[in-house]
Amino acid sequence: MPSTAATTALALAATTAAGTLTYAALSAQSQIFGPVLIAPRNPNQIALTYDDGPNDIVTERLLDLLARHNTRATFFLIGNFVRQRPHIARAVASAGHLIGNHTLTHPWLAWQSSARIRHELAGCNALLEDTLGIPIRFFRAPHGARRPAVLHIARAIGLTPVQWNILPGDWKPIGAQAIAARTIRGISRNQQRNRASNIVLHDGGQAGIGQPRLPTVEATQLLLEEYGSQTGTTFVTVDSWV
Ligand SMILES: [Zn+2]
Repeated sequence: MPSTAATTALALAATTAAGTLTYAALSAQSQIFGPVLIAPRNPNQIALTYDDGPNDIVTERLLDLLARHNTRATFFLIGNFVRQRPHIARAVASAGHLIGNHTLTHPWLAWQSSARIRHELAGCNALLEDTLGIPIRFFRAPHGARRPAVLHIARAIGLTPVQWNILPGDWKPIGAQAIAARTIRGISRNQQRNRASNIVLHDGGQAGIGQPRLPTVEATQLLLEEYGSQTGTTFVTVDSWV
């Protein structure tokens, strides 16, 4: 029989190990399960990234706004929505934005079988490449959730996994001002740490096409106005970081 102290130590070790695994699987910035692209040491660069599209109204409004500011962004598209709205996905690509893979159906990949992970990643890539006629080389895991198999499978099909370092929570009903304010705080924090900013925003929602994300477009306008005129700050797409 282990002593009480030993039992406590074992329980503590198990708890710590579980905590480490949870961190590795779900933390946006953990590299424990393998390298992921986040942001380089360059405080003057900002990557606007948009997940969960294409979406009705919102994505095209966003494209208009980005075009007016001559700014390119990165869009991680959900395959099933691309299948339903191929013309919006084509509009994103033809405007010169970087397109990434955000799986076919937006599952928590960390808890899926290898076969399901492969189906979600390879299926989305095939759909995007067939629809857009361009190679897809970047992937963001839904919720950032991963395990080693997710990263191995992504690398095996030529995808660079991308995480983030600013998550303003724009899917919550907080309004454009709050989304922008949270993002600006994150950018300032990154700049103090000599880091570029990789911001996750959402032009769509995993629940389906039609999610109301116009506050995100409005917040984007505030960000473009805040940083667009500042000397030295540039908006980039994540492919410039590899
Ligand atoms: Zn997502």
